[in-house]
Amino acid sequence: MCGVAGAFEIEGAQGYVQSMMFAIQHRGQESCGLASVNAPGPISGYKGMGLVKQVFTPDVLERFAGRTAIGHVRYPTAGSSDQANSQPHIIELAQGPILAICSNGDLINYAEKRAFLENEHGFTFKSDNDAELIGRMIAFHYIVTKKTMEESIELTQKELKGAFSSLVIFKNRMYAFRDPHGIRPLIMGRIHGENSEGTVFASEDCTFGIIGAERIREVEPGEILRLEPGKPVTTVSSVKKAQRHCVFEHIYFSRPDTKAFGELVYQVRQKIGEALASYDNFQADPNTVVMPVPDSSNFIALGYAQSKGIDFNMGLLRNHYVGRTFIKPAQDMRDEGVKQKFNPLPDFFPGKRVILVDDSIVRGTSVRKIVRMLKGAGASEVHVRIGSPKVIGPCFYGIDTPTKEELIANRMSEHEIAEFISADSIRYMQVEDFKTILTHFEDFCFACFNLDYIYPPSQFGTKTNAPKPTHC
Ligand code: AMP
Repeated sequence: MCGVAGAFEIEGAQGYVQSMMFAIQHRGQESCGLASVNAPGPISGYKGMGLVKQVFTPDVLERFAGRTAIGHVRYPTAGSSDQANSQPHIIELAQGPILAICSNGDLINYAEKRAFLENEHGFTFKSDNDAELIGRMIAFHYIVTKKTMEESIELTQKELKGAFSSLVIFKNRMYAFRDPHGIRPLIMGRIHGENSEGTVFASEDCTFGIIGAERIREVEPGEILRLEPGKPVTTVSSVKKAQRHCVFEHIYFSRPDTKAFGELVYQVRQKIGEALASYDNFQADPNTVVMPVPDSSNFIALGYAQSKGIDFNMGLLRNHYVGRTFIKPAQDMRDEGVKQKFNPLPDFFPGKRVILVDDSIVRGTSVRKIVRMLKGAGASEVHVRIGSPKVIGPCFYGIDTPTKEELIANRMSEHEIAEFISADSIRYMQVEDFKTILTHFEDFCFACFNLDYIYPPSQFGTKTNAPKPTHC
């Protein structure tokens, strides 16, 4: 998973983009990058491994000043940790730099399209990252088949399969576009400053408050927007297919202060908690406490506690300076990461019956460690409540889930999982429960929970034998 941000025709665009990237740092902590332009000057770019504030120090930002900029934060995907795969990509052909691109989402027909450009048209690639492929496909149509930039993006959008929420800088213009299923979010905002007025984009609108921007609307699924100096934002084209917004954005990925796919994330999470509570016949007593695994489960736990009228408390403290534990390549590293990340409140747990709420169980690493930690701290019972259905399938569209075999729900029954993680009981959500939570349930992708993939895995292999582009 990753995040994108862009600012068009605003003095100090690079600063706005950096601030937005910082606000969506949770979407990617491995590397980040920015490309900017002061048209008609050339596009320049800078990328680095690490966090936004480490990479984009004030002197670096000053060097990349421009009136238009795009930026990207990248999530660590196992096996692809290098700067070449960071974004934005500046696409250069023999003619020189054509465009800069950054994108959020995974393509599933990467291998086929890359082979076409490499083998049939002699294109060379600098990375294995799928956003570079999008950029090269656009450049191919623009340079080789001599289409306009708008037509080139439109053709590319039609030829790609998968998730992409993308921003492109081309000459003095910017383009923003999404895949026709609208799998990943992309929001447009507007800054009305005293000295600055311009359009901004970001994967999440929690970015807008920080820079004083107003939320305008989502870029529509399948829509291509063109931004040109002095002209209104124009929809170049719009192809819509069945909507498949990623429900995991609501469950886990997005910040609670974001509005994604027309719904407020914190409200969705609270409703998930209420739904979990409504199906639960757990009998609480004065020693019972509802506790989230911070931070993604905070609102789910709050919804559960309020709905049941049980005390809510933060018994687990999270160290925010520990990197992602989820993605570490080896199990022992993941185990160690969980220990460093969470610590139980001292003298809080003895005699407590804990309802521990987490957003999801994937491999089972985190919750197992945490339950044991709480029991070690004196909890008399730990009942686990999960704000999502069982994860039984990998995601091919941008959420980094492991292979089917590694998913605990594919190997164990509910009872076995409870035993494995030493929980006194466990309850998951069901896919159908989301019908009362989401206003447009039918517009969401639940493939990791029900294997109903937009593009059937038979089209592109399973996660283990699929071509190996580095995703975002
Ligand atoms: P696991 O320990 O493998 O069962 O992973 C589940 C935990 O990781 C939960 O606490 C989630 O909050 C978190 N999580 C779930 N999916 C992801 C993901 N794609 N990337 C990072 N963390 C995740």
